[in-house]
Amino acid sequence: MLVVMKNHATPEQIDQVLGAIRRLELTAHPLPGATRTAIGITGNVGAVDPRSLEVLPGVLELIRVTKPYKLASREMHAEDTTIRTPQTTIGPGTFTLIAGPCSVENEEMILRTADFLRGLGVNLMRAGAYKPRSSPYAFQGMGQEGLDILARAREKTGIGIVTELLDTDNADAVEAAADIIQIGTRNMQNFSLLKRVARARKPVLLKRGMAATLEEWLMAAEYVMAGENYEVVLCERGVRTFSDHSRNTLDLSVIPPVRALSHLPILVDPSHGTGKRDYVPAMALAALAAGADGLLIEIHPTPEKALSDGAQSLDFAAFASLVERLRRLAEVLGRTLN
Ligand code: PEP
Ligand code: MN
Repeated sequence: MLVVMKNHATPEQIDQVLGAIRRLELTAHPLPGATRTAIGITGNVGAVDPRSLEVLPGVLELIRVTKPYKLASREMHAEDTTIRTPQTTIGPGTFTLIAGPCSVENEEMILRTADFLRGLGVNLMRAGAYKPRSSPYAFQGMGQEGLDILARAREKTGIGIVTELLDTDNADAVEAAADIIQIGTRNMQNFSLLKRVARARKPVLLKRGMAATLEEWLMAAEYVMAGENYEVVLCERGVRTFSDHSRNTLDLSVIPPVRALSHLPILVDPSHGTGKRDYVPAMALAALAAGADGLLIEIHPTPEKALSDGAQSLDFAAFASLVERLRRLAEVLGRTLN
């Protein structure tokens, strides 16, 4: 349910509505807009008599949100959402690049990558310290040591850090090291993890489950937002289909429906989406053309030596050339690369 306040509603009137919602044992989510404030209501709204709120001073109208995801829906929040980190923004008008190795492997390669990215004007670096690997015998990530390396790279270069949270045990440490907390495809419906990041004071990059429908994905976002963390960035990374010419099927056709149904920004990860570095540039450019808000791309100083996902990682020269092509396309589309 959405309470739309009148244009000239006073802060006291808004407070009065918030109090009334809380007395009904529901959660109130103030949604300040350009012209007027709206207040989202979540919880068991079925039992609420809308008239009890409609009559309060300053209230324009009550709208029932029909979708099962409420806070993530455009019905509740018409304007596109902008996510801010200390280094950059993700959202309307911009096209945000996030790049870096699949895994933190050592300090030297992370610092080299961070310096390289800063030189290209890229403000966010991705790298996993905790890795969800299909094989228990594969490199599992450097764990806490990896987080420490990322924290030092941030301190030395000013680059923002995007890193994955695998389980709730590491949540405090990952939250401290990250500017954006990544939830991977395998954890999109790990509800205890979603509830934990709902309490985090950092934005969450929520990858689409590899077999998730759009509704399931937005419901996962809703878990985070229901806990009052409204900073969710969606990331399409390919889904499982019968196609076997690429690692996954990068579902760029999900972008227009995401934009229609949700106000949250959406990034595309063409690295996991294709699994092959040769296919990454074409899909990256296509993602920009299709209306994505940015990219998450794996790069590595020496991809052939990477401890994970080398086959889909671009080397620095290939990434620099892609950034140049993205810049030119972004200009035509009226977007600014950041
Ligand atoms: C990753 O970003 O390195 C990763 C493991 O991604 P996904 O969860 O999409 O497989
Ligand atoms: Mn990877």
